[in-house]
Parts: sequence; structure tokens; C-alpha cells
Amino acid sequence: MKRLLLHTCCAPCICSIHQCLIKAKEYEITGFWYNPNIHPFGEYQRRMMTLGYYSQETNLPVIWEREYFLGEWMEVIKDKYKNKEERCLSCYRLRLESTAKMAKKEKFDSFSTTLLYSKFQMHEKIKEIGQKLAHIYNIEFYYQDFRIGWKEGIKLSKKLNLYRQQYCGCIFSEKERFDAAAEK
Ligand code: SF4
Repeated sequence: MKRLLLHTCCAPCICSIHQCLIKAKEYEITGFWYNPNIHPFGEYQRRMMTLGYYSQETNLPVIWEREYFLGEWMEVIKDKYKNKEERCLSCYRLRLESTAKMAKKEKFDSFSTTLLYSKFQMHEKIKEIGQKLAHIYNIEFYYQDFRIGWKEGIKLSKKLNLYRQQYCGCIFSEKERFDAAAEK
């Protein structure tokens, strides 16, 4: 079976993808934790621990990037933070590039990301970035529109009693989320 390194932004987002890939029996899945975009640090730890719990419950192997790398994230968005789209594209690229490099280093056949599950992310742009990196690093980017499992993922994450966060990750997204909630 081929080996797939799956960048994992959080446990609730991997649930349905993981089950779907297990059923397809085409790839052996390993998660990859690299998310310096999650702020503040307490929130980062909480999401990391939730993935740890999920990996134990489901026997999902995970490669953990233990360092936080907050400075690296700030470096890539420093000229872009005023424009949400540019900020998010840089953020996707940083995380996907780390995944492609790790996949190459650890001799995986393919890499992908749970960001493809979210209805709130720029899906086509994520696909485009993944395909470009696949070309640069000479490794397959596994693409599937995982948004199809959106409802199933919510059901599974609730069933497993996983912590479900209220905002994407960075401090900007936290403000955007609660500003919008306040406006409503
Ligand atoms: S909103 Fe999400 S994708 Fe965009 S920069 Fe913040 S953490 Fe990254």
C-alpha cells in the first residue's frame, strides 16, 4: 500500500477524511502536526492534545513537529496580514511546504492536507498550492474534495467528544470570528 503524509490542522477535521481513506484501502495514512498559525499557545496545545487523543483512539500514527515555530509563521505573513486572502495563502503555503518536505524526507509516496475538508478555506487555492509544491519537491499531492464528508466529520467529532474550536487558528481569525458574532 502507498504511504500518505496528511498534514492535520486539528482532530475534528481529520475524522471523516481518515475514515474515508481507510475504507478506500489505497493509502496507509500518517498524520503530520505542523501548525504555527494557531494562537495563542494555550489553544495550540489544546488542539495538539486533542489530536493526540484522537490518534490513540484510532491508532493513527502521527509525526509531531514539537517546536511551535511562531516566528517562522510571523515572518511569512508579516507583509500580508492586512489582506486576509494574502495572509491565508502564505499560511497555507508554509504548512503545505513543511508537509511536502517532511514527506520527501521520510520517503512517503504522497502528501495532502485536512485543509481540503474545510468549507471555510479557499479550497481551489489549497489544491493549486499543493500541486505546485508537488512539482517542486517531486512528490505526489493527493487531492480529493473532502468537503463532501463535512457533516459526517461533525458527527464523528461529537461522538468522540473532541474539542471543537471556534476559529481557524491565528489571532486575526479569532478577532474576525468574534467580531462577526458580535455584529449578528
Ligand atoms: S485565518 Fe486560518 S488560514 Fe488564514 S492566516 Fe489565519 S490561521 Fe492561517
